[in-house]
Amino acid sequence: MLPDEREVGGLRCSDVLARLSDYVDGDLGEADVAMVCAHVAACDNCARFGTSFTWVLDTVREHLASVDPLDEAVAGRLRDRLAQERHRP
Ligand SMILES: [Zn+2]
Repeated sequence: MLPDEREVGGLRCSDVLARLSDYVDGDLGEADVAMVCAHVAACDNCARFGTSFTWVLDTVREHLASVDPLDEAVAGRLRDRLAQERHRP
């Protein structure tokens, strides 16, 4: 699925994706958040798709669009989070 998945900061690109739902939900532990951030910041592969979380968030959006019922409270928080990320410089 990903062209050149690599391991950076102890996580592979797919590991980062696997943690995103918890990340947007605020359920991700501090250590995991740090690992995700370290990966995205240092991974050329992820950086190629955009800056910082742009790529992963887009991927999550696409994923959510194809998944059925998402808890509305979670969806609302995700939309808020996505809006914040989008408005970053
Ligand atoms: Zn990556």
